[in-house]
Amino acid sequence: MALARGYAATDASKPLQPFTFERREPREDDVVISIKYSGICHSDIHQARNEWGNSMFPMVPGHEIAGIVTAVGSKVSKFKVGDRVGVGCFVDSCTTCASRDVDLEQYMPGLVATYNGVEADGKTPTQGGYSDHIVVKEGYVLSIPEHLPFEATAPLLCAGITLYSPLRNWGAGPGKKVAIVGMGGLGHMGVKLAHAMGADVTVLSQSLSKKEDGLKLGADHYYATSDAETFKTLAGTFDLILCTVSAEIDWNAYLGLLKVDGTLVLLGVPEHPVPVHAFSLIPGRRSIAGSMIGSIKETQEMLDFCGEHNIVSEIELIRMDQVNEAYERVTKSDVRYRFVIDMATL
Ligand code: NAP
Ligand code: ZN
Repeated sequence: MALARGYAATDASKPLQPFTFERREPREDDVVISIKYSGICHSDIHQARNEWGNSMFPMVPGHEIAGIVTAVGSKVSKFKVGDRVGVGCFVDSCTTCASRDVDLEQYMPGLVATYNGVEADGKTPTQGGYSDHIVVKEGYVLSIPEHLPFEATAPLLCAGITLYSPLRNWGAGPGKKVAIVGMGGLGHMGVKLAHAMGADVTVLSQSLSKKEDGLKLGADHYYATSDAETFKTLAGTFDLILCTVSAEIDWNAYLGLLKVDGTLVLLGVPEHPVPVHAFSLIPGRRSIAGSMIGSIKETQEMLDFCGEHNIVSEIELIRMDQVNEAYERVTKSDVRYRFVIDMATL
């Protein structure tokens, strides 16, 4: 066992604080990673504050990890000491079920979350990336393209893949009109990725305050959802709408923006259920769907795609002791566009 240092939530109402814990002794198929950068996803905040009701404390959040390999087990073949690697939202999964065969292991019941989960042994709590190092099975470690600025790649491991996967699954590309709801950590990655795939991209934000940025990042159009005219102007426009908002917004209004056979994909997770009327779906054969991160294979594909297109996240690099302040700012939508913790400041 090696001691790890990090920051943890000790219960839902307290700020994160310094915390020391044990990482497992590396096994023959494990990679030991010195964590250099850790992104702050809104999911970290939901879980640190027990907004989904499933939190286990103490909890070291963080599933957007970029680091350097410091040791490898005897059976590791894909990585060597010194490699730049990433770890996302899961670090293990069961080895038997069919989802794994079709590279959809993110939907497997035996998924082991990077934190707020338990290891494959069914009892040892997992702890995440707001820490100095992590031990991960080789199959759950990703290669980060060499030429991308390292600190800005950390958010690709969750925000990037969470948008890449539905964009690919619902066929975003030339001739397709895609809307991204919410210009936050996930949303701004959606703009960059959908633009690089060749889709016509619209941002639907609460206001026009980030319009200039949105257009610079690749949006073709930018509308404020606080303006009722937006919903009239854009009625029946989109093939695909990706909603990254975690507040309870009226999904019925957004369904009205879809073309016939269009799909609204939910990515953000509101704390309470949102009612949907059958008449929002029936005229127009519209669908409402959900999507969760992406498989390991797809995550590597996304990182390689980002390497080819020089896509990284827009980040604000912070010290570890600024994490609680960063949480407050994320909840107020005051981030452009992802906080990343410089783990050297731990
Ligand atoms: P974020 O950076 O806070 O972005 C969310 C954006 O939603 C905000 O920037 C804001 O954009 C908009 N928004 C916030 N409050 C709103 C309100 N009351 N009404 C309308 N719009 C509002 O969060 P994130 O890290 O991107 O995560 C977003 C959600 O996705 C979270 O619920 C997170 O847990 C979830 N998530 C899901 C997955 C998955 O696999 N499905 C993966 C990661 C995260 P504007 O200022 O532009 O309006
Ligand atoms: Zn996340």
